[in-house]
Amino acid sequence: MPPNDANSTEKPGEAGSIALIRRLFAETGREFAGRYALAIFFMAIVAATAGGTAWIMGDVVNQIFVDRNEGMLFVLSGAILGISFLRGIGTYGSSVTLARIGNSVVAKTQRRLYDHLLSLGVDFYNNTHSSEFITRMSHNAGAVRSVLNTVVSSFGRDLLSCVGLVAVMVIQSPLLSLIVLVTGPLAVIAVTGLVKKIKAISRSEFRSQGQIIKSMQETAHGIRIVKALNLEPAMRSRMDVAVDAVRQRSNKMAEIQARTGPIMETLGGAAVAGVMLCAGYATIYLGEKPGAFMSFITAILLAYEPAKRLARTHVSIEAGLMGVRMMYELLDTKGSMNLNPDGPKLRITKGEVRFDKVDFAYRSNAPLFDKLDFVAEGGRMTALVGPSGGGKSTLISMILRFYDPVSGKIVIDGQDIATVQIASLRDAIAFVSQEIVLFNDTVRENIRFGRPDATDAEVEQAARDAMAHDFILDMPKGYETLLGDQSIPLSGGQRQRVAIARAMLRNAPIILLDEATSALDSESEHHVQVAFDRLMRDRTTIVIAHRLSTVLGADKIVVVVGGKVVEQGRHDELLAAGRQYARLYRLQFKEQAETDIRDDVTAA
Ligand code: ADP
Repeated sequence: MPPNDANSTEKPGEAGSIALIRRLFAETGREFAGRYALAIFFMAIVAATAGGTAWIMGDVVNQIFVDRNEGMLFVLSGAILGISFLRGIGTYGSSVTLARIGNSVVAKTQRRLYDHLLSLGVDFYNNTHSSEFITRMSHNAGAVRSVLNTVVSSFGRDLLSCVGLVAVMVIQSPLLSLIVLVTGPLAVIAVTGLVKKIKAISRSEFRSQGQIIKSMQETAHGIRIVKALNLEPAMRSRMDVAVDAVRQRSNKMAEIQARTGPIMETLGGAAVAGVMLCAGYATIYLGEKPGAFMSFITAILLAYEPAKRLARTHVSIEAGLMGVRMMYELLDTKGSMNLNPDGPKLRITKGEVRFDKVDFAYRSNAPLFDKLDFVAEGGRMTALVGPSGGGKSTLISMILRFYDPVSGKIVIDGQDIATVQIASLRDAIAFVSQEIVLFNDTVRENIRFGRPDATDAEVEQAARDAMAHDFILDMPKGYETLLGDQSIPLSGGQRQRVAIARAMLRNAPIILLDEATSALDSESEHHVQVAFDRLMRDRTTIVIAHRLSTVLGADKIVVVVGGKVVEQGRHDELLAAGRQYARLYRLQFKEQAETDIRDDVTAA
């Protein structure tokens, strides 16, 4: 059993298309009911003008060409002009209204997807490639729009037009109508077979497109490694495979979609030929006026486009429903971690963090912690040391409730963190990770992420305390300089100081810190050290220590190996005990100590 199942997927399965469309309308369409009604009103105008045009053709032929009625010439010309004008208004109104609804639907869906993604736990992100989110945000929202609009315009415009035109046909000539209405169902049967194929292709097409984005992202992210290892040819062939898969699927899809064309053309032609035979016979041999026939033929010709679209509706809706289905798969993935939105708030008194018989395992992996006990005293610095893979980062993540224990509890000042409002827990903690995340925004805003309601003066004070103020002022636009991807690069030490300023601003009683492993030059090292010392003062600090100065200054060192606390105490005690820590110290920190001494000697 995966014990840490922070996000469980209720598999919606291959929900039936009708059920899916119904859900889509209930959840997304309802809000736009009024605007849809308006669009349908415009479409009804379009449909009515189609029927009117067909109807009037009978009179045109009989009154003007057979009876040569002068007065009707102007009346009928005026009527045709009026009908065309109305049709124009209807077409304009319906397309503008539908486009607006569509854009609102996309916006609403994107917000909803993003909100949902934000609410999911860290665990979910561990198991999903980031490119998938990007594809989903654009593709799925577009699919929602396309399905809703196709449904509405098929039924509003095309179905109403067909109904009106068929009514004209039946009234003008019931016998001829029979011929046409027999060919109609044949068309439907022919097209249904194509739908299944489209379904299968459309899902794999989405996957291949995701593959392209994934490859591109990996390349951009790892470009240094790609170049250093001469991986260009390998990457190129990976991309080639993905690009080619998309090309082939798109071809296949286009071909199947286009197949509806010839089928409809042939059937349409057969119907027109049959009708002409019958009507011609009636006119030539039975002496009937041709008006009804003209009206009928016009109705067929006008019904052709909407009928073709209706026959294809199924196909295009199925293609879009794939995206809708995937969207619901995501929205139905629930975070099962209890966030206690109505629970009590965490109250910090001393800031003591205690692990009490904590068992933990990552999904489907072997247990990592087995009855782990551990205390970080309030207001003191506790350093976690140990070989990599021992569980130090996991321990820190659990204090932030990125993951919950399988059993046992984590207690802060006597309160089980699983029972308090999660926001109050995270408010009490400032976390500085090893990899420092700078958002695509100004330096000022990047610091302000520590506490969004902080004033400019507070931001600058935090930067001063973090030894960052001076170098920020040296940047081209000072605090307004943009950080992020395409901007000026900060050195490792500078990035750390921005992160420390952020944590400083947060002014939280508990500090969780994952020290950077990469070495800094000694001046940066000194600045960062001063900043950290200020940040940690009088606060409970739990730090994954990679630096000599940190272990020397710690109130308590906890040695974590293989998910167990194997030793704890102060540096000199542990050194004197001559066990794991002493060995580790010699391996990891002694070298640093010697380098420092060498540096000092060289400097002197
Ligand atoms: P440390 O910080 O001491 O290097 P970690 O807490 O990162 O140790 O890792 C402890 C163990 O948990 C390792 O065996 C690691 O492979 C595993 N682990 C870490 N993160 C995950 C994860 N997201 N999913 C599965 N296993 C993980």
